[in-house]
Amino acid sequence: MTRALSRDKFMRRWNGWGDDSIDYPLPASAENYLVEKLGALSAFPDARLSAVLATVPTSRLPTHPLVQTDAETRVRHARGQSLPDWIALRSGRIDTFPDGVALPTSEDEIVEVLRYARAIGARVIPYGGGTSVVGHINPSPSAAPVLTLALTRMNRLLSLDETSRLATFEAGVAGPHLESHLDARGYTLGHFPQSFEYSTLGGWIATRSSGQQSLYYGRIEQMFAGGRLQTPQGHVEIPIFPASAAGPDVREMVLGSEGRFGVITQATVRVRPRPRAESFHGVFFPTWEQGIAAVRYIVQNNLPVSMLRLSDAQETETTLLLTGKRWIEPATRALSWIGYRAERCLLIFGVTDASPRAASAACRRFGGLVIGTLIGHTWQKNRFLSPYLRNTLWERGVAVDTLETALPWARVADAARAIPQAIVNAARAYDERVLVLVHLSHIYRDGASIYTTYLFRRTADPDALLERWRAMKTAASETIHAHGGTITHQHGIGTDHAPYLAREKGALGIAALRALCRTFDPDGMMNPDKLVRTGEE
Ligand SMILES: Cc1cc2nc3c(=O)[nH]c(=O)nc-3n(C[C@H](O)[C@H](O)[C@H](O)COP(=O)(O)OP(=O)(O)OC[C@H]3O[C@@H](n4cnc5c(N)ncnc54)[C@H](O)[C@@H]3O)c2cc1C
Repeated sequence: MTRALSRDKFMRRWNGWGDDSIDYPLPASAENYLVEKLGALSAFPDARLSAVLATVPTSRLPTHPLVQTDAETRVRHARGQSLPDWIALRSGRIDTFPDGVALPTSEDEIVEVLRYARAIGARVIPYGGGTSVVGHINPSPSAAPVLTLALTRMNRLLSLDETSRLATFEAGVAGPHLESHLDARGYTLGHFPQSFEYSTLGGWIATRSSGQQSLYYGRIEQMFAGGRLQTPQGHVEIPIFPASAAGPDVREMVLGSEGRFGVITQATVRVRPRPRAESFHGVFFPTWEQGIAAVRYIVQNNLPVSMLRLSDAQETETTLLLTGKRWIEPATRALSWIGYRAERCLLIFGVTDASPRAASAACRRFGGLVIGTLIGHTWQKNRFLSPYLRNTLWERGVAVDTLETALPWARVADAARAIPQAIVNAARAYDERVLVLVHLSHIYRDGASIYTTYLFRRTADPDALLERWRAMKTAASETIHAHGGTITHQHGIGTDHAPYLAREKGALGIAALRALCRTFDPDGMMNPDKLVRTGEE
């Protein structure tokens, strides 16, 4: 067993993304471009931490040695990373806080925290890295006290079975710690969500997360082999088998459980030897349709790629501008001369321990211009840095949100056109323009995920901003549903997607989910109102 790594006093922004010593400056050319697309921008001041601390009500929890009730710890665990969360944090209008935060260091302490919470009738929110973008970790208003149970201090590698290539970790381990434990032994998990810096193994499992190289390494569902769940009714041990036909799989029940059944305390994952070579390549296609045909061909013919990320024309243009590099202008002019004009779309593909030749040849077959590794490696270098741009944009007066779905190939092109249009139409009702960027990033033999980023101007009034966000999000979600897409490919349900869950699961499916909640948690103590509303079990 390795020593626990301390990340209690990290210099993490309390009201934005990431380490507060890291900035992602906006190149002047990109700022001009945003003004051209969205209109004149205004910056509005954010609430100060000291002012927010003064609004935190007295804790309703009796003292316990494992529970911290100071205002700053409670503020820092009050919200995740969705746009509504940012609006609440940055405006200082936070209507609910946890009454305390437990930071256990062992499984026994988790059991003790659950016992304490049950004895006093508290609600418990399991908390990994707090990177949820759909309201997973926000306390809902409650007459009972709310206790956030943060797994921050539970980040040890418990064992590594090199014969079976199985590693067991405490569930609070965050991406960089997990990979450094494995790297020291020559292995990798290969799960790289963009939130890698802060999100945790338990959070990935509880939200059915997908990493950027899922095409090679798989989604967390394929990596998660088993582990332990502590519920208010006792613990559930999920045994590790390479495969099993022993009826419905409890492991599958834990995946996506969003803290509703209990706390995942430890998890065993399937690891691989660290790759010997990895590279990322850029390709331009004259049109989006040609790009889609190429990525579909690549996956349906099993060509060796570890990732495919195909940007639409708008995202391609914006990505190039955001690099701020001087060579971009002459390079894009040269692309236009040879026929890759305004409709051009950029594909970045990765290969791991394989040659890029087969994928490159497939791209050429569909009109792709393979341009080497410069753009691909710039993407790789910045892939965990790009969330920092959200801080800069906000401070310049621009709000950013993302949403995602997945659906069969036969409907991908239509949905990828309709989702941005729905967002643009919703913004028009407020006389606002919105910049919508789309890419396909998780590609399957039978379909793809569509990932949408939209940028629009902030308003001085946080309620007005929230109203605009809600209108755009609802329009996009309804369009996703109308096209037969899932409400989420990787972000999960939380509270923001909860109204759409019944449409996907059906009445009987939801009743089964509620019955599971009741079985593990008869008093409705765990993460209230996430997935399905508490009290309706
Ligand atoms: C900038 C950014 C980029 C992102 N990129 C991606 C991406 O590429 N792919 C992707 O899949 N997601 C992405 N996300 C979403 C988010 O990072 C994932 O949902 C992630 O899996 C959440 O992990 P976490 O540890 O932060 O969990 P938290 O946000 O702390 O919690 C999420 C949910 O999981 C539950 N939970 C957490 N730990 C446990 C546990 N040990 N036991 C039981 N329940 C638990 C919580 O109760 C909650 O319901 C991104 C988010 C941001 C802000």
